[in-house]
Amino acid sequence: MIIKPKIRGFICITAHPEGCNAHVQQQIDYVKKQKPIGNGPKKVLVLGASTGYGLASRIAAAFGSKAATLGVFFERPEEAPDRPASAGWYNSVAFEKAAAKEGLYAKSINGDAFSNEVKQQVIDTIKKDLGTVDLVVYSLASPRRMDPKTGQTFKSCLKPIGQTFTSRTLDTDKGVVQNVTIGPASEDDIFATTKVMGGEDWEWWMDALHEAKVLAHGTNSVAYSYIGPEITWPVYTNGTIGKAKEHLEHSAEKINALLKLYRGKAFVSVNKAVVTQASSAIPVVPLYISILFNIMKEKGLHEDCIEQMYRLFADNMYNGSYLNFDEKGRVRLDDWEMKPEIQEAVKKVWDSINTENLKSLADFDGYQKDFLKLFGFGIESVDYERDVSITL
Ligand code: NAD
Repeated sequence: MIIKPKIRGFICITAHPEGCNAHVQQQIDYVKKQKPIGNGPKKVLVLGASTGYGLASRIAAAFGSKAATLGVFFERPEEAPDRPASAGWYNSVAFEKAAAKEGLYAKSINGDAFSNEVKQQVIDTIKKDLGTVDLVVYSLASPRRMDPKTGQTFKSCLKPIGQTFTSRTLDTDKGVVQNVTIGPASEDDIFATTKVMGGEDWEWWMDALHEAKVLAHGTNSVAYSYIGPEITWPVYTNGTIGKAKEHLEHSAEKINALLKLYRGKAFVSVNKAVVTQASSAIPVVPLYISILFNIMKEKGLHEDCIEQMYRLFADNMYNGSYLNFDEKGRVRLDDWEMKPEIQEAVKKVWDSINTENLKSLADFDGYQKDFLKLFGFGIESVDYERDVSITL
């Protein structure tokens, strides 16, 4: 069938199999052009492996370090006759095919990573196929989580704490800069968001892997976070999601203590703002990203997920390099984004941005291209007028 993007707010409900394949291949090609990652990870478990930072981590480990990878994600396969799969499904099929071509082990488990069943399935698969893993990447971004111990479902939200927040935001569908007002979170909102996006599940994963004796000597584990500029703090860093990320940092300390048994490390890496399905849902952030991209591209400092993840492994975690921590024990891959000259330039634009000057003062075209690419659209090498099979 001919598949076109169908955008509903900040989500695209269709995905293009060949486009997703090409997008994954672009990331693989990027890694293969870099130097191999010396002393890199060899058996890697990636939780949230189908899109965004998790997929890029998987690609960097596999194609930069020849790692065997086991990926976990929550995606929708295609449904005959005419419902394409979700982008993450196509990405993962594309990844597995590319890995197989190079003789790299790559298996995936599609299911709820928060559940006990998927944890058990992963442990069984590691025992059967790999014996142990030496890197666990925790890159889940989810709107909800069912706590398997109580059966209760929690929904995360993006709200300020203790105040109503009004800011400029971008309707990314229409290209309109407008105001958004978000009311303050309740205690329940804060608790629920921490349950979903905090570190409890990461801790449970690491405990389960430890108890099952499937962690190798030297095992490392990393989870991802974001801080960003003050203009987004009320809805991000000082909001419900920021509380969850604070919890994630406490979990990193606990997991780090556990991994000392293996002479490994656990830490949070604060990554750069990029366009992903998760970040496009956050109010205010897409407008900031559009301005940021313009400035970072101008200064030759722009990175996407794959450049960030290759840099994490090659320049920070492996290759004889060592981890540089900030005062809170986090690795800062957002160092280029947070450079004072970049942030001062963003702030200047932020004060004057409006719908009329959006295209000249911000990289809204780049934002839209990146957004479409998440779903396999807008890639030059793909003929979107061609009838394609919905099965990759
Ligand atoms: P994403 O939406 O691209 O990826 C989320 C992944 O989680 C997907 O693979 C999805 O299938 C998986 N997932 C969601 N619910 C699941 C479930 N119940 N079971 C199994 N898998 C599930 O998101 P992303 O932006 O790459 O975010 C990953 C992490 O990076 C998050 O912690 C996020 O806060 C962080 N981060 C993102 C940015 C950014 O700008 N996007 C910046 C810094 C840090």
